[in-house]
Order: sequence, then structure tokens, then C-alpha cells
Amino acid sequence: MKYDKIRFLCLLLCVMLAMSLFAACGENGTEQTDDGQQIAVGGDSQNGNSGKEPDDEKLSKPEIDLDDPYMLLVNKTHPVGKDYKPEGLKEIKYFASDRDASTRYMVGDAADNFHLLVEKAAEAGHEIVMTTAYRSYGFQTILWNNYVAKHGEEEANIFSARPGESEHQSGLCTDVSSPSVNYQLTTEYGQSPEGKWLSEHAHEYGFIIRYPEGKEDLTGYQYEPWHIRYVGKEAAAYIYQEQITLEEYLGILD
Ligand SMILES: [Zn+2]
Repeated sequence: MKYDKIRFLCLLLCVMLAMSLFAACGENGTEQTDDGQQIAVGGDSQNGNSGKEPDDEKLSKPEIDLDDPYMLLVNKTHPVGKDYKPEGLKEIKYFASDRDASTRYMVGDAADNFHLLVEKAAEAGHEIVMTTAYRSYGFQTILWNNYVAKHGEEEANIFSARPGESEHQSGLCTDVSSPSVNYQLTTEYGQSPEGKWLSEHAHEYGFIIRYPEGKEDLTGYQYEPWHIRYVGKEAAAYIYQEQITLEEYLGILD
């Protein structure tokens, strides 16, 4: 009788052990959702359906070659010389005809991609044209002197550039505008349909909004939704994703 009792207890223990093992296996099995769908639970997320979206959209930072001509940094602390003139300037096809014709140029790839950008914008129903792109040192000198005469040097320095300090001398950028702001350069452009399209799509053609809002301390310039700079598609996509400036991208903040 005593022996039977021990046997019974042993059997009970075995059954309980087997049940707990079965339950443990179930943790990596499947569960039902309340609408009857089967979902995988537990287990290794690499085995597929962990319920998380794949993270493959996020770009990692490209290798930066500072000798790449498309990476050229021109700002108040990194001027170019009086004689600097980029090679391979190409005439721009889409421009506001009332601006100076001598500025209708950009460096090869920048010009080609700008044309593409304008054409794609047109397909989306937006007219975007260049106002001024390349400016020679001499042209910038005239512009700067005019601004200084009108506003004084300190104020002029916020929205214009001293000769040599203007990115426009690089041939890698252009100012653009559209009918909705009467082809003017105004911060309202950022909220116009064309300006919004530009800020969302410029990077697809290798351009960045060079002087973003809230980054004045880094760029040295006020917000300019109309000034786009060519850096190539890879860099532009990363800069757009991270919402950073060219200075931050290049790690040149002095
Ligand atoms: Zn500009």
C-alpha cells in the first residue's frame, strides 16, 4: 500500500514535468490574435516575423573625400581666392530672364541634375527656375558693395557674402524661385507649393537646401529656402535624412 502511494506520487510528478516542458516549448510557438490570426511569438527575431518593421531604409554615412570637387566648402571661414573659377561650367536652360545672364552657369553634373530637377518638378505641376547660379569674384564684389552701401556692412553680412566667401563662386549652387512668390527670393518660398516640393525632392537630384532654418549659427546665414547646393546624390540623401548642414556633414565647424 505504501509502495503504491510512492508509485502514484512518482507518476504524478512525471506528468507535471511533462506538462511544464510542453508549456515551455509553446513559448516559441504561435499564438492567436483576437481576430483569429496566427502570429509568431518569442524566438529569434532573425527568424522573420518578429512584428518589427525592417530597418533597412536608414542610410549610413558615406565615406567623405575632401578632395572631391563636389565637396568643396565655401563659407565665411573658408573662402576661395580671387582667381578661383570652377572648370566645366555649363549653361543653365531654365532661368528667370530678368536676371544677369552672366550667372546662368553651373558645373557639369550640377547643371545636368538641376535640369532634371526642374523637369521632374514640372511633371509634378511646379515651375522652378534659377535666378542666379555662378557668380564670379568680380560680380560678387559689385553685389557686396551695393548691399553695403544700402544696408551697412554688418547687416549685409547676414544675407550676402563678401567676395570670395560666396558659395556662388563655386558653380555648385543656384538660387531658384517660382511663380507663387513672383520669382522673388523670400523666406515665404519655404511654405509655397514649389518650395515644399523642392525641400522634399532636391536630394533626389543631388542638391541640399544649403541654409536651413534654425542652423544659422552653423552656416552663418539666415534661412534661405531658395538656395540649393549640389553635393551629389549619396551625400545629399544622407544630409536630407539627418537634416544636417554641409558643415556638419564634412565635420568642418571652425
Ligand atoms: Zn544663393
